[in-house]
Amino acid sequence: MSLSEFSLIDDYIATSATSRADVHVGIGDDCAVVEVPPGKSLAISMDTLVAGRHFNEGVNAVSLGHKALAVNLSDLAAMGAEPAWATLSLTMPEADVRWIRDFMQGFFALADHFGVQLVGGDTTRGPLSITVQIHGFVDPGRMMRRDGAQPGDLIYVTGSLGDAGLALQLQQAGKLDMACHQHLLQRLDRPTPRISEAMQLVSIASSAIDLSDGLIADLGHIVQQSHCGAAIELQRLPCSPAVQAAIARSNRWNLPLSSGDDYELCFTVPAERQQQLQQLTATLDSPLTRIGVIEQQPGIRCVDAEGAVDDIESGYDHFN
Ligand code: ADP
Ligand code: MG
Repeated sequence: MSLSEFSLIDDYIATSATSRADVHVGIGDDCAVVEVPPGKSLAISMDTLVAGRHFNEGVNAVSLGHKALAVNLSDLAAMGAEPAWATLSLTMPEADVRWIRDFMQGFFALADHFGVQLVGGDTTRGPLSITVQIHGFVDPGRMMRRDGAQPGDLIYVTGSLGDAGLALQLQQAGKLDMACHQHLLQRLDRPTPRISEAMQLVSIASSAIDLSDGLIADLGHIVQQSHCGAAIELQRLPCSPAVQAAIARSNRWNLPLSSGDDYELCFTVPAERQQQLQQLTATLDSPLTRIGVIEQQPGIRCVDAEGAVDDIESGYDHFN
């Protein structure tokens, strides 16, 4: 039996406030039919969240609706693509109307913010699982790929690193205190996709990736696909006061280096475009921080305040 029989779709899912002119047919027919602007290419990405694996079944459904879309928007941001349409596959054990209402509220709040229209999907019965596919537009000659970094390019990140990882750590230890850890939990449950930053960076950055698995792992994809390496200055890593305190307590850098779920952008900028980047910083929502440099030598090296170098390739455990 299909869950769509419960008229859930009409009542809670086909209720997008965003109505785009480039959508010829949205929810309600056999297919969505949409129009890509002339000269643009379609950027497509998909992410699945499985209960028990990517989130706890008891997690706030509004937050889950936000996050399911946010992680997809983050992939578009990493490519420099402008978001347009989403599809949503919902698999649920039962038709829990309140859950769906809350989930869609979180989903639509973020979708409307970025002008994204939900144009279709599927609703079925089964173990709780959520898949979102996102579609956006890129200029094929001007996108941020993982393989564009060159030795000498400077490495930057948006926002701050390690907040989501610290929230998860505290949560798992039963030490998350809503009074003083509100900001951290927000960073874990309601990540901000860096779309507006990406729209500005697309003409400046030589490569980019979004940080879902941690800086070392994700920057690792850039250096591998660009056939180069990187040096990171630990003292430069942008961290919130809570993460700074955790680093000082543990004397370990694993939160900003290897905890995931921050959904910030890591990108590289050629030396000759530094000035262009400087002019940008004042206009952006989140800070941009230079954290290191792309080098010819493969691997990632972390340099501490005393200038001591830790080669991640040979000592990854140290940070994990
Ligand atoms: P079909 O049998 O043709 O697949 P469905 O009953 O599955 O039709 O869906 C009816 C309409 O509702 C379709 O336009 C479909 O895209 C849309 N839809 C179903 N589930 C979702 C969902 N979770 N999110 C968005 N649209 C959905
Ligand atoms: Mg269907």
